[in-house]
Amino acid sequence: MRKIGITAPGLADIATRPLPRYVLVTGGAGFLGSHLCERLLQDGHRVICSDNFSTGRRSNVSHLMSNPDFSVVEQDVRDAYDADVSLIFNFASPASPPDYQRDPVGTLLTGVLGALHGLELARLHGATIVQSSTSEVYGDPLQHPQQETYCGNVNQIGPRGCYDEGKRCAETLLFDYHRKYRTDVKVGRIFNTYGPRMRLDDGRVVSNFIVQALTNQDITIYGDGMQTRSLCYVDDLIEAFIRFSNAGPDVIGPINLGNPVEIPVIELAELVLELTNSRSRIIHMPAVIDDPKQRRPDIGLAREKLGWEPRVPLREGLSRTIGYFDGVLRSATPAQPV
Ligand code: NAD
Ligand code: UDP
Repeated sequence: MRKIGITAPGLADIATRPLPRYVLVTGGAGFLGSHLCERLLQDGHRVICSDNFSTGRRSNVSHLMSNPDFSVVEQDVRDAYDADVSLIFNFASPASPPDYQRDPVGTLLTGVLGALHGLELARLHGATIVQSSTSEVYGDPLQHPQQETYCGNVNQIGPRGCYDEGKRCAETLLFDYHRKYRTDVKVGRIFNTYGPRMRLDDGRVVSNFIVQALTNQDITIYGDGMQTRSLCYVDDLIEAFIRFSNAGPDVIGPINLGNPVEIPVIELAELVLELTNSRSRIIHMPAVIDDPKQRRPDIGLAREKLGWEPRVPLREGLSRTIGYFDGVLRSATPAQPV
């Protein structure tokens, strides 16, 4: 089996030391993974970022490369691997609907085999594994807001099934390993999260609307725009995962991690137009198949178990994200002669 990353001292040594921990972040070159790597390094840990670079980019972590405690390894989580680590964040998976539907079989296998290989690694080394699950396990929810006890309403044969069922199966594997092998597992269900380092073309609502507004293209609403989402700024989400990973072995989850402030997609479009002073028009496109009509996390458990709740209001988070996208667009556009 391939061994990746830095060679750590004996694991007995690792287990008795609070800092630094040897941490693996799969999908570490993606949007969320790169912020997580950055935060873990700031907190004094040694970090291996593994990625197959399908939807992530080396440039997301290039600013961390000079740090001797950081390494980047090309590794697909569908293949088994080994690494000397005491903490694993399994973040490898395409997350945007156009991304995960481009290779549906690959997405499903990433969900299932990525969890299995992470769990085997955790079992081998006595490590903790923290899983990036998703609000998509609730499908098009019939309960609102969604609580962790809700089993969901997923169309397993629809175009979103590859992602939703892969993530659901991953949760099953995590809980089976916990019951059977006492593996230290933690399952965080992430609700729509946005911020700097999302790809301009990743197809998710926040990146689409901001890029469209900044370039004065039409804002594309799928359907009537009355479907709702609850949007969490990336820094808030990373703080939640850090707290979760530091919580005791009895805090397993699943725990909803997201911002409970809910907004219809049409209102999000109007807010982006206002914050960007854009001349873009709003247009309506065909509705997406199986698009969840409403989504809002109940975060009572996160408040209770992690003492966490989001701090960054939507306007503030959007303004920061607009600033980021504006910078990227300007650096990509050749200066116009005056
Ligand atoms: P992203 O696409 O920016 O990052 C995913 C990363 O995983 C990329 O770097 C990609 O190259 C890598 N990857 C994909 N398949 C892989 C494979 N088979 N092997 C190794 N690496 C692989 O997406 P993101 O928003 O940063 O999402 C990160 C994680 O969080 C995902 O697991 C996603 O399901 C979960 N999540 C995100 C959100 C959100 O709103 N951002 C919501 C729910 C769940
Ligand atoms: N959406 C939209 N226009 C876009 C992109 C997305 O109206 O250009 C809608 C989409 O139909 C969904 C919501 O915005 O109702 C969130 O979509 P996203 O792809 O960001 O994430 P999802 O929560 O669906 O996984």
